[in-house]
Order: sequence, then C-alpha cells, then structure tokens
Amino acid sequence: MTAPVLSGEDPAAIRAAASLLRDGGLVAMPTETVYGLAADATSGAAVAALYAAKGRPKFNPLIAHVTGTGMAEALAVFTPLARKLAAAFWPGPLTLVLPRTTDCPVSELACAGLETLAVRAPAHPVAQALIQAFGGPLVAPSANPSGGVSPTQAGHVAAGLGERIGLILDGGPCRVGVESTVIGFDGNTPLLLRKGGLAREAIEAITGPLSAPDAASPKASPGMLQSHYAPRARLRLNAVAPEKGEAFLGFGTSKIADRNLSPDGDLQEAAANLFAFLRELDAGAVAGIAVAPIPDEGLGEAINDRLQRAAAPRDIA
Ligand code: AMP
Ligand code: MG
Repeated sequence: MTAPVLSGEDPAAIRAAASLLRDGGLVAMPTETVYGLAADATSGAAVAALYAAKGRPKFNPLIAHVTGTGMAEALAVFTPLARKLAAAFWPGPLTLVLPRTTDCPVSELACAGLETLAVRAPAHPVAQALIQAFGGPLVAPSANPSGGVSPTQAGHVAAGLGERIGLILDGGPCRVGVESTVIGFDGNTPLLLRKGGLAREAIEAITGPLSAPDAASPKASPGMLQSHYAPRARLRLNAVAPEKGEAFLGFGTSKIADRNLSPDGDLQEAAANLFAFLRELDAGAVAGIAVAPIPDEGLGEAINDRLQRAAAPRDIA
C-alpha cells in the first residue's frame, strides 16, 4: 500500500503524523530545504527502520530537527559562537555539528557512533508544527532512496518511497531546494562541512572566513559521498550546448534549454528548481543531461556541489 498524502496545513494530519512517529513510524515532512523522512530521534528501532527504508549506509549520520535552541540545548553543547549562529539563522537552512550532551537522548545509531550531533531548526511551518506536536527531536534525512535525487515536492517522495513509509505531509514545493549548510567546529574555528541552502557569505559575515575540514580526518564530515543526488541519465557539466541525445539544463540567457534553472540568472531560483528539473529531464529517457555553467558564488556553491556529485562515477558509492 502506498502512503497517504495529507495536507500539512490540516491539524488532524499533524496529529496523525505525530501519533505515527510515537509508534516508531516514518513520516515524510516538508522543510524549506527538501522533504525530510522523519523518525523519532530517540528511538533506536525507529532510526534503524529509517536507515532501512532509505537504504542509507549506517556510517552516514542524521540531523536532529528541533523547534529551536531550547530543544537543541538539551541535545548538544553550544559554544557562544554556535549560539550566535543559531540566533542569526534559526529557523533556517543551517545545521550545526556540536558535542552531544552527556544525557543526550538521541539514538547513537543516528550519530553513526560519533560523539557529536548535528542539529537544525527548520523554517517550514509544517515541519515546525510536526516537531512541536511530537514534542521532541526528529531525525529527517532527505525523503528519497539513498544516493538518488532529493525530493522537493510531495509527489517526488511518493514516487521514491511511497511503499515504504507511513504518511506523507504535503507542504507544497520547497522554497530553498537544496539541503542545509552544515557547519562544524574545530575548537572555536568554524568549518564548512557541507555547502548548502545558506550561502557561505552570510555565515562568514558573522564568523569570518570558514575553513575546509581537514582531509586527514574524514570523521569531521562523514557521509559526504562523491556520487550522490544521481539521476539515471549521465550528467555533463559546464556545457555550452547539448550534444546528440542530450537534454539541456540551462541557466541565465541560454536560449536552447529544455529547462532553464533561472532565466534571470537568480541563484536562489536556480537552487529551488534544481532537483525538480533534474527529475523531469531524467524522466524523458534521454541518454544524458548537459548542464550550463553556474556561477560558483552564493547558493551557486551548493548547486555546483550537488551537480558534481550527481555527475560523479557511480561505482564509488
Ligand atoms: P542529510 O543526508 O541531508 O540528512 O545530511 C546529513 C549530513 O549531515 C551527513 O551526511 C553529514 O555530512 C552531516 N552530519 C550529520 N551528523 C554529523 C556529525 N555528527 N558530524 C559531522 N557531520 C554530520
Ligand atoms: Mg539526502
């Protein structure tokens, strides 16, 4: 049986979803970044069921979603800098990786055995309502089979995971469209662990220059697989024009495009369209998808990161 899709604006649907989560079930919820597959973060059984439904490797830790800093501070140890970032950007597309509190109730499986926990307060009203109604943290990786293109509409979730989960809350298309930016810390030095929906420049205005994680300590950024977000068709990046058999994903003034991420060259609009357009072109049984160059600034950094992973050889993952 495929999961029912209910409007996230209906309070009865939120109550039903919270009750399903209390019973260890899996609920897809809209966030402003992408749709997440939510489970009770404190239940080892629910978290194990989530990894199984997605086919997600167990070394790839999950983000605990909270209503705000009140709930987050019971789970993770905040430094003054982490508090400053949360005050500036929560609720929003920023994830902070911090040490677990000594009595952190989040399942160790969710943290892949690390002593740190990733926390985020999502800005979508439906996600906020669900966490509130549930009354505790929810882990919520993207609601798609592991390795595939992330869902930015309820229909994408139904197509990929409909048979494996309990309920889908529909909150319309995601406003940001790419996953959250993940920031970790080496002492007081902030590290950019994953480029995402909050632009580096906005964070650096508060922290100063962000460092890259030390390549010698892969534990700082586990789960960042080289092949990810991959459609069926092969991707060719920085293309000026399509070759035979290819669809063309344009940006800015491209005239020949089958889809244009943003005719005005607006990187926010491009991020919001990215995953839906990749899915649409992939559904057209094309041999490949050629993608126009995207400026590597602002949200363009996250778009290029996702495109590079989508284009990476598949045998690595
Ligand atoms: P997602 O797959 O979008 O739910 O994002 C989860 C990502 O957050 C993982 O793939 C990691 O890159 C990052 N992450 C989660 N927990 C941690 C952690 N404890 N330490 C470092 N990175 C983490
Ligand atoms: Mg994902």
